[in-house]
Amino acid sequence: MSQESSEPQTLIRSEFQKKIGSKIKCEICPHLCTLQEKEIGNCGGREVISGELIATNYGQISSLQLDPIEKKPLYNFFPGSEILSVGPNGCSLSCAWCLNWKISQAKQLPTRMILPDDLVGMVEALDGIGVAYTYGEPLIWFEFVQDVGKILHERGLVNILLSNGYINEAPLKKLLPITDAFNIDLKSVDDCCYTNFCGGKLEDVQRTIKIVHDAGKHLELTHLLVSDVSTDLRKTEELINWIANIDPSIPLHLSKYFPANRFDKPATDMQFISDAFELAKSKLDWVYISNIWNGTGDNSVCKCGNLLVERTGYDIDIKGMDANICKACGAELNFVVDMK
Ligand SMILES: [Zn+2]
Repeated sequence: MSQESSEPQTLIRSEFQKKIGSKIKCEICPHLCTLQEKEIGNCGGREVISGELIATNYGQISSLQLDPIEKKPLYNFFPGSEILSVGPNGCSLSCAWCLNWKISQAKQLPTRMILPDDLVGMVEALDGIGVAYTYGEPLIWFEFVQDVGKILHERGLVNILLSNGYINEAPLKKLLPITDAFNIDLKSVDDCCYTNFCGGKLEDVQRTIKIVHDAGKHLELTHLLVSDVSTDLRKTEELINWIANIDPSIPLHLSKYFPANRFDKPATDMQFISDAFELAKSKLDWVYISNIWNGTGDNSVCKCGNLLVERTGYDIDIKGMDANICKACGAELNFVVDMK
């Protein structure tokens, strides 16, 4: 059974580490933290103990609840289903406006230890479709996500990552076989945004998005429209073009920003959201507006105009498709509705 504790049950050695003299380099994310004995990495999840890099955040859960999958957000993956959502404390980035900063950056919340078998048992008891890792950054939970994902797949359940995409290529490739869907934040296609406000580099996130897409995994992207940072329509167009060049069928969630953490600009202007939405719809097949409950920006509509999925808050009505086929025009849609 699950146990409440702030200490790991066993010391889980990180697979991606390299000895550099008397120090250990963590090779999971592009920060490549090089740590001395007892030093903790940037993400807060790994510490050098007795000369080994140990995943001290293994199974340490700060948040857990059964959520509609639309809340993640994932709109083209099992629409209308519920998924057990869990998160670690900590993050590899430090976005000035992070809505979840109390989990991702303050690192003060108590955690409880839940081992992979127990977590999957909870999913089955709650009749969820699987596990989504969210709130904090799941990639800093690399070892835990791998172990949970393997068990979920053995039981025919799904494993979903809601992530900032900040991971190196080798560890990402180890996660791909046990992950069914990703929603990755693309904050900007301007590197200054990542370096000035998020403590990371754009190229690392773009590499992750391309690898996930090329691996044929279900991928959706989220772009937060932060006032005065990402509210220049020319920049928005560059971002939309970058996505369209990879694949115009990648769903994009345009998300309204609200003041949070260290950032106090006013919430995103509604006219800008509307302009960005119209622009994105002209180049991408699936564009949604998140964080606003007022209209049609949440619906899925086929290119032929047929309303496929109507969403009113978290009320989901699948109207115009059979499996992933449009009932009106017969088009095959970029929707995952079963794991066959
Ligand atoms: Zn259609």
